[in-house]
Amino acid sequence: MLMKWSRLRFKLWMPMVAIAIVALGLGLHQRSIRLARISFAYSVEASRLEKTLIGPSGTSNDGPSGRESDKILDRIHWNDTVAGSFNTAAGRPWILIDPDPSKITCNCGHHSR
Ligand SMILES: [Zn+2]
Repeated sequence: MLMKWSRLRFKLWMPMVAIAIVALGLGLHQRSIRLARISFAYSVEASRLEKTLIGPSGTSNDGPSGRESDKILDRIHWNDTVAGSFNTAAGRPWILIDPDPSKITCNCGHHSR
């Protein structure tokens, strides 16, 4: 009886480990897709802001100017940076900490603060 049980356990552990590995892989894959979707949403927002900066004619002559233009540029850079962070995270889904948009700043050097 004891022999049979231990043999059964021996037979069961392999498919159980296989199922666990597949489940882990699926979980990471789902996480990667979710992070990539968030990244895409931020880059879409950056593109939308770029269009407002350029203005309807596409020459930036009739777009916003001065401080307002700088504000929009800051937001474009921030959205692009956040998109990049989520894209990087999507490529490393095993790092289980999501990027925090509130802590992300653009380091391109253009921004005064
Ligand atoms: Zn920047």
